[in-house]
Amino acid sequence: MIPPIASKLPQWEPSIFDTMNQVARQTGAINLAQGYPDFGTDPELVRLMQEALQEGHNQYAPMAGLFSLREAIAAKTRDLYGAHYDPETEITLTNGATQAIFTAIAATIREGDEVIVFKPAYDCYEPAVKAHGGVPVLLQLQGPQFRIDWEGLQEAIGPRTRMLILNSPHNPSGTVLGEADLKRLEELLAPTEILVLSDEAYEHLVFDGQEHQSFCKFPGLKDRSFICASFGKTFHVTGWKLGYCMAPEPLMREFRKLHEYIVFSVNHPAQRAVYRYMEDPQRYLNLGAFFQEKRDAFLQALEGSRFRFRPAAGTYFQLLEYSGISDEPDTVFARRLAREHGVAAIPISVFNLNREDHRQLRFCFAKSGETLEKAAAILRNL
Ligand code: PMP
Ligand code: GLN
Repeated sequence: MIPPIASKLPQWEPSIFDTMNQVARQTGAINLAQGYPDFGTDPELVRLMQEALQEGHNQYAPMAGLFSLREAIAAKTRDLYGAHYDPETEITLTNGATQAIFTAIAATIREGDEVIVFKPAYDCYEPAVKAHGGVPVLLQLQGPQFRIDWEGLQEAIGPRTRMLILNSPHNPSGTVLGEADLKRLEELLAPTEILVLSDEAYEHLVFDGQEHQSFCKFPGLKDRSFICASFGKTFHVTGWKLGYCMAPEPLMREFRKLHEYIVFSVNHPAQRAVYRYMEDPQRYLNLGAFFQEKRDAFLQALEGSRFRFRPAAGTYFQLLEYSGISDEPDTVFARRLAREHGVAAIPISVFNLNREDHRQLRFCFAKSGETLEKAAAILRNL
């Protein structure tokens, strides 16, 4: 007899990324759904990975990650954001941002703890909270610019609030938080003992001369934050699954206790390769300009279409609103767009509070010029 288990995630369903990938495969549609580049990785980074393999870095890396890479992350964080993290005790390499997020939640959230999550939200936060007995408290971001409802936030904070999860640049909306938002948050949290999980997977993908506002720039936020980042996004290697977490020593100490027993340590040759690749800061500093060009090419090619949009301020996702074309629900329209017209995208309602549907789809523009051109030509004619 197979013993029954009470599911920790009874509401689970396949992720929208898997679902739309499958639809794209079955229909042969151009896949602008899941967020990953369709162009090649820099041959130099591939060469560095080969070099690391050939040099024999094929055994376990240290539990917290290669020290030289932690030092490079600390130096980058100091240079870009003026914030100090001790590589010895405050930075840990992880299996992508996903594991950093899961581990930070596992280390801190107990039965009954409330965790405030802003919707639409990337899909890995709520399951991690629930799996540890926490209670997600969901707040919808407001209006076309997905702003924080500050009064709503103040009201949602109560004696059981343990953590706030924020994500800027924001997936799926492509919006970014500004300095004034972070200052306001810093003030609001000052009298509390609430922790923050800041998902900064797209930190280098900010456009139009804006600057990424890392939570570590604000002392009142830095002291309470786990900051999670992804080399997969930064260096076009989502399949390498390499990221990191930074947090003040007492928080990182607890993080590492869980990290050690979730993964122990992460991909050693990839850490060597990324360490060497990071020696040239232009490789991440140029990323904003690189993706801004792609966003602009995509939006220019859409000129004259019936989609409505605000150019993404960050990430490599562009929302397009299609109410001028169809009044179908977004999940239905997304499937039909793939099946009948050959472009796959992500419907946004699945990430919204109560699955609110604003007739918006998310398109990934981390694609070759040719792919974007082809997709836009189809979209323009709808
Ligand atoms: N956070 C956000 C907002 C994301 O879009 C993603 C997807 N890359 C992740 C975290 C997970 O990153 P990784 O692939 O490094 O696990
Ligand atoms: N981060 C990727 C996106 O938003 C998806 C990763 C996944 O499939 N979970 O498209």
